[in-house]
Amino acid sequence: DVTATKGNEFEDYFLKRELLMGIYEKGFERPSPIQEESIPIALTGSDILARAKNGTGKTAAFCIPALEKIDQDTNAIQVVILVPTRELALQTSQVCKELGKHLNIQVMVTTGGTSLKDDIMRLYQPVHLLVGTPGRILDLAKKGVCVLKDCNMLVMDEADKLLSPEFQPSIEQLIRFVPENRQILMFSATFPVTVKDFKDRYLQKPYVINLMDELTLKGITQFYAFVEERQKVHCLNTLFSKLQINQSIIFCNSVNRMLQDHRNRVFHDFRNGACRNLVCTDLFTRGIDIQAVNVVINFDFPKNSETYLHRVGRSGRFGHLGLAVNLITYEDRFNLYRIEQELGTEIKQIPPHIDQAIY
Ligand code: ADP
Ligand code: MG
Repeated sequence: DVTATKGNEFEDYFLKRELLMGIYEKGFERPSPIQEESIPIALTGSDILARAKNGTGKTAAFCIPALEKIDQDTNAIQVVILVPTRELALQTSQVCKELGKHLNIQVMVTTGGTSLKDDIMRLYQPVHLLVGTPGRILDLAKKGVCVLKDCNMLVMDEADKLLSPEFQPSIEQLIRFVPENRQILMFSATFPVTVKDFKDRYLQKPYVINLMDELTLKGITQFYAFVEERQKVHCLNTLFSKLQINQSIIFCNSVNRMLQDHRNRVFHDFRNGACRNLVCTDLFTRGIDIQAVNVVINFDFPKNSETYLHRVGRSGRFGHLGLAVNLITYEDRFNLYRIEQELGTEIKQIPPHIDQAIY
């Protein structure tokens, strides 16, 4: 379902200009849903375990953050992309080369069934990004010709296949060659127990993105409050003084241009609970640790039902109870009605006396 996006644009991720050019020249106009979920989170440095159907654009979901994070002036392998087959390795490296067409990033492919000697020779030349199958990369790492001490991102595409008995032992050994504080991104269409085990052992506070689950509004109490634009902040204050808030997200519609560095910090502070309330646009939604968030406030009401669902909805598997409060101005009133209809849900007027008892 490539159409159901949150409405993000590739510009929203503040990528290097050269990378953005490559993306557009490849004919990608907007990020697909898995890209919308993965790219901003991968850019913050978090580990990710992502599940999405085939053909949904997983390759670019990890290639874009990989290319963004590589420092072209550092002559070292900084990203390793592991894939189960030679064909997939070639295809993935091709995507990296195309997206990175205007960058100066050296991509190398290495897989079993080809000359080891050629690969060793190639490694004397600069390589920033290595794509390959686990067995061959492990061979090269053991020989000391493939140095992974500066590899700060490890991608596992088709992770379910990479963790089958054929590859798993190589992966377990290979992971010891990459630094402890590396970022791991795992992509898969299925989540067998091997993937879960690996996640539990090696990933640090991973984001689990699961686009196989439908978002639902079940169990979420939804209210609206009619306000004038200038009363919004006052209204927010009132809500905060009355409600029992564990963590909250306050959504605004306008993009607040913030440096990536600062965004990363804010995002991490929110995740680890150091900061309890996050004001944001639609850049982050499901990536947020939804377990702790019990209140979502639409400071600006979204324009369409898709966005509303992404902000307020929870995937069925997590199904925690929560509260959503929508600040509605005179201009928003038709949208409120339309979104309610489209989502088949009920958004009630907030009672005059609010406390925890209302949800
Ligand atoms: P997956 O790994 O999820 O099976 P791929 O990464 O192979 O999917 O992508 C499937 C197809 O979708 C490819 O042809 C790719 O070029 C195309 N694609 C990926 N992202 C976008 C996008 N944002 N806009 C348009 N096409 C895209
Ligand atoms: Mg794929």
